[in-house]
Amino acid sequence: MATAVTVNDAIDGLKKLLSEKDDLLAVAATKIKELTAELEAKDANEFNPEKRIREGFARFKKEKYETNPTLYSELAKVQKPKFLVFACSDSRVCPSHILDFQPGEAFVVRNIANMVPPYDTIKHSGAGAAIEYAVLHLKVENIVVIGHSCCGGIKGLMSIPDDGTTASDFIEQWVKIGLPAKSKVKADCSDLENSDLHTKCEKEAVNVSLGNLLTYPFVREALANKKLSIKGAHYDFVNGTFDLWNLDFGITPSLL
Ligand SMILES: [Zn+2]
Repeated sequence: MATAVTVNDAIDGLKKLLSEKDDLLAVAATKIKELTAELEAKDANEFNPEKRIREGFARFKKEKYETNPTLYSELAKVQKPKFLVFACSDSRVCPSHILDFQPGEAFVVRNIANMVPPYDTIKHSGAGAAIEYAVLHLKVENIVVIGHSCCGGIKGLMSIPDDGTTASDFIEQWVKIGLPAKSKVKADCSDLENSDLHTKCEKEAVNVSLGNLLTYPFVREALANKKLSIKGAHYDFVNGTFDLWNLDFGITPSLL
């Protein structure tokens, strides 16, 4: 709010002037009016994150929270989500939005390129903790890994030079989890254009993540006991389609 402070300072200055010199009253009053109008116009046009957040919550509270007391009083006591969802951090692919999940329905992990890393208590404890909690404590019945179109993380993975050198602090190291997908796609589909290659890799990286889920002992156990199902998915926001497939990697026709 640097602008507001500057304008306020100007207004204070003018007020001071006003009290000292009566003959400047009219000039100062006009100036104050102009500055205030300018400030208001600027505020109306500028994005205000605090206002956005406050208004967003007020809307949610009025339209959803207060209109569904049964759901929210139930959720105040416990959560029983049926799904553990891995989705990309991309702002266009929020699973609650695109799959219409209601509060309490999905335990969600979001990261760059919706990767499930292999079991590793040192390197990937964040992902491991989420999977462990969801499977062992919440006893989710489904794990869904959702890839998506135009994924910047997958594009980054595809752009890593063959010698493996990286230029970023974290991003490339993270998306390298999907290297087996990149290798498979490059070997199988070398004739494809880059954009098609990326789409293939977006889907294949989901399969790598499904495979990585099997490296977690509690996931294997829940699968063996038929308490859990694992699914892959790909959301295409360019064409408005959503593919869903099972761990057996047989891709089903698009749902829409
Ligand atoms: Zn992405």
